[in-house]
Amino acid sequence: MTPSQPNRTTPAARATKLWTKFGFTEPADLVLEDLAFALGVVVIEGRLDSADARLIRNRDKGLIRVREDIPEGGRKRFALGHELGHWELHAGVSQVFSCTSEDMLAGYKGSAHEVEANLFAAELLMPRNLFRRRMGNEDPLAPVLRDLAGYFQTSLTATAVRFVELADEKYAMVLVEDGRVRWWRASGAFEGFWIDPKLEVSPATLAGAYLNGEPLPPGAEEVDGDAWLGSKAPQVGDPLFEVAIPLTAYGQILSMLWPA
Ligand SMILES: [Zn+2]
Repeated sequence: MTPSQPNRTTPAARATKLWTKFGFTEPADLVLEDLAFALGVVVIEGRLDSADARLIRNRDKGLIRVREDIPEGGRKRFALGHELGHWELHAGVSQVFSCTSEDMLAGYKGSAHEVEANLFAAELLMPRNLFRRRMGNEDPLAPVLRDLAGYFQTSLTATAVRFVELADEKYAMVLVEDGRVRWWRASGAFEGFWIDPKLEVSPATLAGAYLNGEPLPPGAEEVDGDAWLGSKAPQVGDPLFEVAIPLTAYGQILSMLWPA
């Protein structure tokens, strides 16, 4: 009975409603454990083997367990927001949700319920209007993303995804792991942006140069668009700006790209 297409409006609307109901005006007001408690859900941290977080529902009471060894506060918050999404949206679907780190990334692929839980978590943690106001017209340089992540208490990766989602201009983010592209997202304006799946990162990119032991420049640097873009991208040949940010706790590199 899993719907094949996620509902893309209800999850965010439900998260917005909670901000209104509880009178939150800034991210510091949003104490997730308190919000959960007000919604009938107790949150604990503990051991989980294969999942990042789990929700168990018993009628109007719930228990969320978040994996204790998630190495980053922001990622724990996203996992908790994700489970609250299941709590708010999926009462009739299942009494148990056990969600992996892959589920927390589901944006377009993945089960509709996982996508919906992520849409809810993104809006709950990084409300659209507040996020847009704070991002202004800045390019996603490392200090800009770090400021946003600090303000919203989110991981750099979730912050970068939100930045790309809400940008009116052409921006993309790429997550590199083990020298290959793991996944990427592009803003709606960046039509035709395409990176081949599992692309081996070229040394002509900043991420690739960093993997080869070269130091990263402090800001954005122009790189050859061909080094990133795949055969399906019409912009091949056009130069790109790149900012590369190592995520050392995960052995990953986050690269932000936009037309030069
Ligand atoms: Zn889930």
